[in-house]
Amino acid sequence: MQIPEQAAVRRAFVNTSRSRAASMSLPAAWPPPRSDDRDFLGWVDPRAPRRAYLVVEGDELVAIELRLPSAPGGRTRKTMCDLCHSVDAPDGAALVVATRAGARGRAGDSVGLCLCTDFDCSLRVREPLKEHQVSVSGRPDDRQEQLVERLRDFVTRVLSPRG
Ligand SMILES: [Zn+2]
Repeated sequence: MQIPEQAAVRRAFVNTSRSRAASMSLPAAWPPPRSDDRDFLGWVDPRAPRRAYLVVEGDELVAIELRLPSAPGGRTRKTMCDLCHSVDAPDGAALVVATRAGARGRAGDSVGLCLCTDFDCSLRVREPLKEHQVSVSGRPDDRQEQLVERLRDFVTRVLSPRG
């Protein structure tokens, strides 16, 4: 994806206050490596380890603030990521929570997602399938399209005033 300017990321937040968006910190490495291979950007705030962000480029840029679990739970178990359906992230996947946009979010409503803790789902689905995976499914490799679809669903749920 195209790497947005820092100011554009701040303006794109849909589920946080303007002051919190203003306090968001970008990762030290910006733009992130291999940007062309990424369907979304994600990072943990370097100054607030329980805050993370997900930035998606659709018709418009959408930035979502995520809360991370207080304890690094589930890192020994192999939890599957909801976006890339892999268990291969070095530190596994963790449940992150996004406050919904608008009135629902102000009422405390949120959406959960299990997500690779390194946010490298886009890179993972672009790795070649292992031999046994090719022979078992016999289907074309549509992991990247599926990732984009699941990502879009998540954004829709965060934005949705209903459902
Ligand atoms: Zn993933």
